[in-house]
Amino acid sequence: MNVAVVLYTSDLRLHDHPPLRAALSSCDRVVPLFVRDPAVDAAGFAAPNRLAFLADCLADLDAALRERGGRLVLRSGDTVDEVCALVREQDADEVHMAAGVSAYARAREERLRTALEAEGRRLYAHEAVVTAAAPGSLVPAGSDHFAVFTPYFRRWADVPLRRVLTAPRSVPVPDGIGSDPLPRRQAVAGVSPGLARGGEREARTLLSRWLHGGLARYEDLHDDLAGDATSRLSPHLHFGTLSATEAVQRARAAGGPGGEAFVRQLCWRDFHHQVLAARPEAAARDYRGRGDQWRTGTAAEEETEAWKEGRTGYPVVDAAMRQLRHEGWMHNRGRLLTASFLTKTLYVDWRVGARHFLDLLVDGDLANNQLNWQWVAGTGTDTRPNRVLNPVRQGLRFDPEGHYVHRWVPELAGLDAPRLHEPWRLPGLERARYDYPDPVVELADGLDRFRRGRGVE
Ligand code: FAD
Repeated sequence: MNVAVVLYTSDLRLHDHPPLRAALSSCDRVVPLFVRDPAVDAAGFAAPNRLAFLADCLADLDAALRERGGRLVLRSGDTVDEVCALVREQDADEVHMAAGVSAYARAREERLRTALEAEGRRLYAHEAVVTAAAPGSLVPAGSDHFAVFTPYFRRWADVPLRRVLTAPRSVPVPDGIGSDPLPRRQAVAGVSPGLARGGEREARTLLSRWLHGGLARYEDLHDDLAGDATSRLSPHLHFGTLSATEAVQRARAAGGPGGEAFVRQLCWRDFHHQVLAARPEAAARDYRGRGDQWRTGTAAEEETEAWKEGRTGYPVVDAAMRQLRHEGWMHNRGRLLTASFLTKTLYVDWRVGARHFLDLLVDGDLANNQLNWQWVAGTGTDTRPNRVLNPVRQGLRFDPEGHYVHRWVPELAGLDAPRLHEPWRLPGLERARYDYPDPVVELADGLDRFRRGRGVE
């Protein structure tokens, strides 16, 4: 009997899983393994919302494996040590995993390859498991990555993707393997009350519902804050309970303007992953420095605190920041306007905002979070780095009826749009009826400060 270990990382599914398929076709038995590695937590993963979602994903993966005659094995410790120990224990010949995308994952993969080779075993790292197109598979002439989205999208759209794989019917696992108990969602403290449920089953239900429902109107409604008409698949793509390749292929098959617009968004995900794979330092450093002297000091700290708490006095900003805290997720339009508010109106370093998002977002990941923050701050890949989103105009345009603000800022109940988006303009007595803060900064002053700081005319 020959045995393969399948090391799960950000790919917690059975459908469309090349490492599992390859292991099953070359060996009689496989050991599906997940390692709780303290180094991954120390690298910033251990936010309660993501830990709770991860617990759902592991429980669901284990249940799906059990239905196929197998089970999930959980070990805790250094990933390389744990995989090597299991390989020795089971006398496994090979290990299969998804190829790493981040610098951290690639370094871990190399360490594992070296350690396994020293013991005469092989590591197979499968490409295009975490993203639809493997980072580095598309490059422009004269560079190692695309720095601008549109040319990347043109190339990406023409590349044939691999075939989507079905889930295996049976997963034979050797008997009697020791496993740590799986984590439980209920045991995680500090989880957002409205956090979504994790797991592959949930992901597949959401995807099917989305393709038959929301997708058709996605192009028209994706920016409508109150409509909440986006797929909400981001946590599943992040944890790999849904394959990006499958999402792209099925949305393409569904077609229409909604399908095209949705596939374009999925391409943004691949785009950011290929930028970070080529420039891992962009997780912490300006991709394109603009000479910013970001504000620090007490006033900046107090205003940042107000931003985090959702009491800046700008209703649509506050609504979005409260949604983030309550759900561990925020609408993309909210992410854009709150990030612009912090980095441009308050002129606070994008890293401060990115950290706060990573502390709360269930889909929080280095590639999408840091590079989107840099895009908004103008230090990233945006070709219009000095654009500033005006929160009043954003509110009027993307929450014209004020339903989104009413949902998250109950202090303003009874006040209707358009006045809702500028409550400080109400006459004195009427203004006094609402227990809601004055703006932390005048927009014109914020704009002046940003322009001076950036040296923009
Ligand atoms: P949909 O509109 O249904 O889009 C489908 C999928 O496309 C998403 O699930 C996501 O995987 C991908 N996608 C959509 N927009 C983007 C984008 N701009 N960049 C990259 N991928 C995109 N997304 C994350 O997955 N993790 C993050 O940590 C993250 N941080 C962000 C921080 C800021 C400041 C901004 C402006 C955006 C961030 N995004 C992040 C991108 C985007 O906001 C979310 O992917 C999206 O809101 C998730 O909701 P959805 O699944 O309903 O998206």
